Amino acid sequence: MKYRTLLPILDQWFAAGSTRAGPGVVPCRAGCTACCHGPFDISPADARLVAHAVDRLDADQRTALHQRAEAQLARYREVVPAWGPPWDVAALGDEAFDDLVETLAGLPCPALGADGACVIYAHRPATCRMIGLPMVNEDGDILENTCPIQGNFPEYAVLAPVPFDLEQFESEAEACDDGAMDAGWGITTVAGAVACAPAPAPQAPG
Ligand code: SF4
Repeated sequence: MKYRTLLPILDQWFAAGSTRAGPGVVPCRAGCTACCHGPFDISPADARLVAHAVDRLDADQRTALHQRAEAQLARYREVVPAWGPPWDVAALGDEAFDDLVETLAGLPCPALGADGACVIYAHRPATCRMIGLPMVNEDGDILENTCPIQGNFPEYAVLAPVPFDLEQFESEAEACDDGAMDAGWGITTVAGAVACAPAPAPQAPG
């Protein structure tokens, strides 16, 4: 299964949970960016997806996104001077990455455009599609997926976890990761994926 075909399964889970909660209870929507701050790791398949999204932007948006990503990577270097391309989180190690995440927790995601919206929303990583609703898997394990502003919405903050066949999803996602790794992608961040996205083919003159 293609990763872009797999991700809508997560969106359907979220939509079902939101509908079950009742009208207006879950405030998550395109344009809310409460959870779009601080570096987080994305899978190889997500990294390839982000690179694909970068390629589809118009030239001005792409240039601006690259500049924001490079600015964020410069901040990474201040915290972890030895880290660099391909911004491989696995190579960096959990402890150093956790330090980075904690230190830069307030940094806006580079995919947030000048108008404050995500410029790659249709191609956003899996993590971005899960935050905001607690999930319970087939073994009864709960992923909190806490939204940073849910405390402002009493009904939202106490929602019961929404069931999801995570094992099946992860198995399909793993196959997509294998394909992405074969294409040279690793575990990175949104900024890392943007910086490593191939440059667009030059436009033919005229
Ligand atoms: S990729 Fe988009 S949705 Fe995900 S954190 Fe960045 S701005 Fe938010």
